[in-house]
Amino acid sequence: MTTLILTLGLVATFAEVLGGSIIIFTRRWPQKFQDYMLAISAGFIIALVLTRLIPESINSIGESSAVLIMLGYATLHLFEHIFAPHFHFGEETHTEHIVSKPASISIFFGLFVHALFDGMAISIGFKFNYVIGLLLFIGIFLHKFPEGMTVASILFASGKGTKTSFLLASLVGFATFIGTLIGLLIPEISSKIIGFLFAFISGIGLYVGTTDLIPEINNSKTKYASLVVFLGMLLFYMTADFIHKLIH
Ligand SMILES: [Zn+2]
Ligand SMILES: [Zn+2]
Repeated sequence: MTTLILTLGLVATFAEVLGGSIIIFTRRWPQKFQDYMLAISAGFIIALVLTRLIPESINSIGESSAVLIMLGYATLHLFEHIFAPHFHFGEETHTEHIVSKPASISIFFGLFVHALFDGMAISIGFKFNYVIGLLLFIGIFLHKFPEGMTVASILFASGKGTKTSFLLASLVGFATFIGTLIGLLIPEISSKIIGFLFAFISGIGLYVGTTDLIPEINNSKTKYASLVVFLGMLLFYMTADFIHKLIH
């Protein structure tokens, strides 16, 4: 199981590095690909959080899960929008906001923390329940390409060259793997603690789906991007159903 979790953490890491590399080395922006990936992953993550993660955390630790879900939501908001002066998913064109060095460092830090939580969600998901771990991995994997692209564009917008951009984008990607490791190393003292962490991760997922991804889709000019969100929800149901049939 540990090997599987580490492998999936690495796969998510490489998806992010790959997304960043596309932008850094081709200097082209596949707008439609980005928007459809954002929409698919938003639908998938929102369906996963609302129909599986939240009910499961209430089942496991009761009503106190609500506070932890909010805490997870608030934590990611804190790192992405309070410490960092300007951040959103997608291509960064607002260079006026991020030219200063401290600004680009804090945005980088915000994304680093975001990726850490992505990675932790994979291993905590697996510790909670095997099927949910797999579903969480898929939701995370799907938004890793556009996330890597986002990182690369922020680095370019802050005036970094090709080499530095690649190094820093890879570092953010690698934070995913570090997060997976941290999640694995958390001792399973009691199922209650895993339940608490799981509720917290649900709040993180809620933030990624509804606040990181949806606004970007709503601002996109790509045809049908908003409709693809529903496809993401459908994909979630089909995947969950498929995994259940596979193991039963
Ligand atoms: Zn911007
Ligand atoms: Zn992410």
